[in-house]
Amino acid sequence: MLTPEASAALSQWLEQWSRCGISSLPKLNESSLAALTSMPTGTSIPVGISMPVGISMPAGDSPPLPRKNAEVSAPEAVVVRQPAADLAKPIPVPSVEGAIPVVLVSQEAGPASTVGWGRPSENEMMRLESLSQLRTEVQKCRLCSELACTRKQTVFGIGPPTPRIVFMGEAPGADEDQMGEPFVGKAGQLLNKIIAATQLQREEVFILNSLKCRPPGNRTPTDEEIESCRPFFEKQLAILQPEYVVCLGSVAVRALLKTTESVGRLRGKFHRYKEAKVLVTYHPAYLLRNESAKRLTWEDMQLLMKDAGIRVAGPK
Ligand code: URA
Ligand code: URA
Repeated sequence: MLTPEASAALSQWLEQWSRCGISSLPKLNESSLAALTSMPTGTSIPVGISMPVGISMPAGDSPPLPRKNAEVSAPEAVVVRQPAADLAKPIPVPSVEGAIPVVLVSQEAGPASTVGWGRPSENEMMRLESLSQLRTEVQKCRLCSELACTRKQTVFGIGPPTPRIVFMGEAPGADEDQMGEPFVGKAGQLLNKIIAATQLQREEVFILNSLKCRPPGNRTPTDEEIESCRPFFEKQLAILQPEYVVCLGSVAVRALLKTTESVGRLRGKFHRYKEAKVLVTYHPAYLLRNESAKRLTWEDMQLLMKDAGIRVAGPK
């Protein structure tokens, strides 16, 4: 049972988190909740080296957080570390206006010092606002009447407002329809590995789909559905202004590059969409059925990293 004070502190945190466009949080277990709520609001515990990061939340039965720098008035960012499995079970957070960014990091993702956001700039705040308005439009869309009737919810996309890289998939599947987040099922787990292999973390990239609704039975989206959804992914990309878009599979290619040329022919080099460099590679679901193509996707990711100036390590 939370004390009224702890409960007030928690709701303040949740408000701050939701201000940065985070609409869901991992489920907190009792010990993390207790650690969180026992800290005065504004407690700042630097994590890693010279990172503008507020709090690293140990999950599970980790000892309580040390109370360091309790005088610091507000953290510049909050890092919540949870087992990856818990990241897939978010709890909804009420939407409020605001400013402190949160980085959700899977516990397995490596040292917190590799991730962090500063306080959002004006530009970031504007983009968050635009994304939030667009999300509301998407939620209301009923252009594809079949999809609007059969979906559990729309799946907007997830990631920071100023990503260097956007990963673009096909359409939500059953898990995504259920969770409201793209790539959380089996294909999503492989995508996470692909992202991790590029020395990036899922939280640093923006992940979206060509369609925001699940086609029943996961059938391939029709051309008409892609055209109806086009304004949504085009507006997302206009807001996000990524340097790179990685098209995962033939549907994303058809949607973004307006070509029916095969992934096999288009992969391995850069294409263009407006200001962004576009890299085409295989869809993770395709890779699950065609193990041998993984090597080619790894080559594509190496090309991306080289071009983006990300230091290449060996494949995992
Ligand atoms: N496949 C996709 O293309 N997108 C998802 O979100 C999940 C699976
Ligand atoms: N065909 C697809 O639909 N997706 C791929 O990733 C490759 C071939």
